[in-house]
Amino acid sequence: MSAPEPIVEVRDLDRRFAQVHAVKGISFDILPGQVVGFIGANGAGKTTTMRMMATLERPSGGSIRIAGHHVIRDPAAVRQVIGWMPDNYGTYANMNVFEYLDFFARAYGLRSSKRRARVEEILDFADLTPLADRPINKLSKGMGQRLCFGRMLLPDPQFLILDEPAAGLDPKARIEFKNLVRILAQQGKTLFISSHILSELGEMCDTLLFIDSGKIVYHGAAEQLRRGNQTTPNGLAAASQIIDISLIGDPTPLLDWLSLRPGIKLLDKRRDGARLEMTAGDDEALANLLKQMITDGLPLTEFHRVERKLEDAFVDMVRGLQNPPPLPGLNLPS
Ligand code: ATP
Repeated sequence: MSAPEPIVEVRDLDRRFAQVHAVKGISFDILPGQVVGFIGANGAGKTTTMRMMATLERPSGGSIRIAGHHVIRDPAAVRQVIGWMPDNYGTYANMNVFEYLDFFARAYGLRSSKRRARVEEILDFADLTPLADRPINKLSKGMGQRLCFGRMLLPDPQFLILDEPAAGLDPKARIEFKNLVRILAQQGKTLFISSHILSELGEMCDTLLFIDSGKIVYHGAAEQLRRGNQTTPNGLAAASQIIDISLIGDPTPLLDWLSLRPGIKLLDKRRDGARLEMTAGDDEALANLLKQMITDGLPLTEFHRVERKLEDAFVDMVRGLQNPPPLPGLNLPS
């Protein structure tokens, strides 16, 4: 089976402002159905990149194609397939939630009964039906964000670009937002979501793209980064595997067994087991370790790979880089 065609192709994308080189020749692909977290510190170049993808900013160099359309040569075709949610949006006085969505539905060319049906569908999806009559300048931050989300979805775009959508949301609104993202991903939409806080995106994105000072410093699966066996843009294989083991009786036989294996470190001992670290551990090494423990007669009741927090995984990864970037939303330990 051949690999799917990317829905987004960014090549050598560059943007210079008078004093600032904001985006420095970046390239990446996004595949259909991916939920990509675009992460970088303040000023790293996220909004500039997203605005170029949304046809709002002209690149100084390079190219972007979305669903086969070139953003410079054919911006109108690109706008037909994308949804754009900026990090802030204007509000209109004297307009309620229904009227706001209805106004944009008209602008998108939806007519009569189709328009009403679509607005009602969006109100339902974004959990705004009970708020349909509420003036939009009386909405909370979370409600306003759901409205903005709904507006973006009116024309049913394939590719959604969301700039810092979770910024300033309280925990409840953040969970509601994550649920909306999950449903859209299940519907097969492709999402590109920015944040300067890694933990904000970790749970909802399957792919992570880190930008630092206008350059991509990591692009890969979130899962792979957590597991630590990824290859960075510098070709570095990083990190180790942490494993929790439980066994029948006390852990003495396990400790004896470990003393003969220098590649495996004891991190912590419990009454019924231990936490181990396997250096240089890919999936195959892990499977071999389990097999060997069973073959050697250790009475295991549990063998469990501990997923690292994304922040820790990112710290491990950047430690291997020559000039590590600051960790978005965290201070990088020296
Ligand atoms: P934030 O998380 O703070 O929004 P960001 O990663 O989105 O940051 P950008 O807004 O893309 O970063 O900005 C990247 C750099 O480009 C910054 O140094 C910014 O000051 C600069 N920049 C962005 N837009 C302009 C502009 N119109 N004119 C001049 N400089 C700009």
